[in-house]
Amino acid sequence: KYADKIKTDPIKKGPKITRDRSNRATVEQVLDPRTMRFLAKIINKNVISRINGCISTGKEANVYHGDHEDPEVTTREYAVKIYKTSILVFKDRERYVDGEFRFRNTKNQSNPRKMVKVWAEKEFRNLKRLYLNGIPCPEPVELRSHVLVMEYLTKGNGQPSPKLRDHPFKDVEEIVHYYHQMLFYMRRMYKVCRLVHADLSEYNSIVHKDKLYIIDVSQSVEPEHPMALDFLRMDIKNVNDFFSRKKINVYPERLLFKYITE
Ligand code: ADP
Ligand code: MN
Repeated sequence: KYADKIKTDPIKKGPKITRDRSNRATVEQVLDPRTMRFLAKIINKNVISRINGCISTGKEANVYHGDHEDPEVTTREYAVKIYKTSILVFKDRERYVDGEFRFRNTKNQSNPRKMVKVWAEKEFRNLKRLYLNGIPCPEPVELRSHVLVMEYLTKGNGQPSPKLRDHPFKDVEEIVHYYHQMLFYMRRMYKVCRLVHADLSEYNSIVHKDKLYIIDVSQSVEPEHPMALDFLRMDIKNVNDFFSRKKINVYPERLLFKYITE
């Protein structure tokens, strides 16, 4: 019965969700009944009234576009990230949660449904931390189990703002500018938010309103995590590799590690 409330309308890459007669069936095929119940709760809170096309299909989550069909209510658009409740997908992520005292609750770790909820909650809390501490990121809006609603970073016309990977740089100054901005945010994340992203790359940052926005923080860990500094070295390497490929001189990784942590 909740499916009735979800009107769909593909904006771009949304082949699994269509507006035809089989609409309800296809939506339910993608979003299982449990997910639909959590979505219904969000819809009942009047945050969004419909789910549109799919922005991204990933290994661990899909991201959908959501808004209000009545433009009188609000013109805000949202990104709805729905974690997949499959066991296999989350198996290799255990190491991120294992050393995290915030989420150390062993009874969760054997149950994929609970794990997926832990991941969504982790992302929601980490996003809040960034958002409240001056790191540009999507504003976290709602969380219901494994369904997370956040601000949609858009360049207009419903189109998502590009990942750093897809941003068309104007000139070398702009490349250097974003490199420095990324390093500054890494330092601020570490020092002020007390988080290491742990999956930072040109794929998990978005160029929006002439600024870098950090996304995808479900795996981020606090500096006390036993692997935190290894994750940080990995982040530094990913960032340096990307900007090296853009043909600018990058700082030595060891120097950056000191800059971020000291
Ligand atoms: P995954 O775990 O699948 O990598 P992400 O959080 O990185 O999940 O989201 C996948 C993709 O969806 C991103 O690379 C980005 O292009 C898009 N995306 C995610 N969140 C937003 C958002 N708030 N606004 C616009 N696009 C987003
Ligand atoms: Mn990602």
